[in-house]
Amino acid sequence: MKIPFLDLDAQYRSIKDDIDQSIARVIETKNFIQGKFVDEFCLNFTKVHGGEHAVGCANGTSAITVLLRALGVGPGDEVITVTNTFFATLEAIHEVGAKIVLVDCLADTYAMNVDEAASKISSRTKAIIPVHLYGNPVEMRKVVKLAKKHDLMVIEDCAQAHMATFENQAVGTFGSGATFSFYPGKNLGAYGDAGLVLCKDSSLRDAVSQHVNHGRLGKYEHAFFAGNFRMDGLQGAVLNTKLKYIGEWTKKRINNAQIYDRLLKKNGFKVIEVTSGAKCVYHIYLVEVSNRAQVMEDLKDKDVESLIHYPVPMHLQPALQDMKFKVGEFPVAERATSRIMSLPMFPELTEEQINYVVKNFLEV
Ligand SMILES: *Cc1c(COP(=O)(O)O)cnc(C)c1O
Repeated sequence: MKIPFLDLDAQYRSIKDDIDQSIARVIETKNFIQGKFVDEFCLNFTKVHGGEHAVGCANGTSAITVLLRALGVGPGDEVITVTNTFFATLEAIHEVGAKIVLVDCLADTYAMNVDEAASKISSRTKAIIPVHLYGNPVEMRKVVKLAKKHDLMVIEDCAQAHMATFENQAVGTFGSGATFSFYPGKNLGAYGDAGLVLCKDSSLRDAVSQHVNHGRLGKYEHAFFAGNFRMDGLQGAVLNTKLKYIGEWTKKRINNAQIYDRLLKKNGFKVIEVTSGAKCVYHIYLVEVSNRAQVMEDLKDKDVESLIHYPVPMHLQPALQDMKFKVGEFPVAERATSRIMSLPMFPELTEEQINYVVKNFLEV
């Protein structure tokens, strides 16, 4: 049995007619850039996921960048985030000229250690970016309390957490604003690059919209230098079609994770512990092992794909060399990084396939 890490083909086959028609409509109406398909998707996303206002972006990375810019974060400011994330979170902070301040993650949930974040706050700290990594929410009540106390902006990186909640509140609705990615492999994936900013405030929405689209006041009137970070109509149409299924797909991911959990935990393996009070949407399902290279190699021989998310924590990336972080500085993330491996996880994965993955995993 061949088990891919992710099966986007299975998903396409299940909704092919819908998708093909939505793409044809974009071509017929030529709403190629922004326009009605993007507007429709943004509105529907707030209805399905939660939140007030949404602005479509070119990708998840530029979504963080334009949100930071619209919030006025820039040179001289410090932004706290976590070393256990995807590089894009840090790139956006760097892009606006702010200083990256890192904290460790928690060993059980792999989410930001918010108590440690408290210890990194200085007079220059302007914002905190909790990342709901793997779809497992950060303890947002603690984040919000901390932000209130120190007058910080909260920007949630929800790239892996569509439909996730903390204490029954949608992630992305706790702070100043939030960002999503619709990279094809994400829980809600476009057919190309796409991203989104979610915010409560209509004036922030308008500022983000300007930052996304050449600082435009009118067609040929520009308030400031901004750039082009717009969402394509094709992506808006594909996403709007897929949005109808995201509730069902999320349930299936959670159900699949529960099957994995049952089989792996009884054999003593450490897996993602869901943050207390949260709904984890399992963008990634991971397990810790001490002999990872061997396990991954043996699974590959059995036609089971596995990956590592992520093999190098951010503080040890070559790009951060000048910041002089040290090995051992964030021990929890470093230990996890050396042990974690991600098993196949997607909605269409069957119980039979999961049994096959785990059987071979346990035989190593
Ligand atoms: C995917 C991802 C991003 C970036 O999104 P792109 O659409 O690929 O630019 C940012 N943060 C996290 C945590 C991600 O997983």
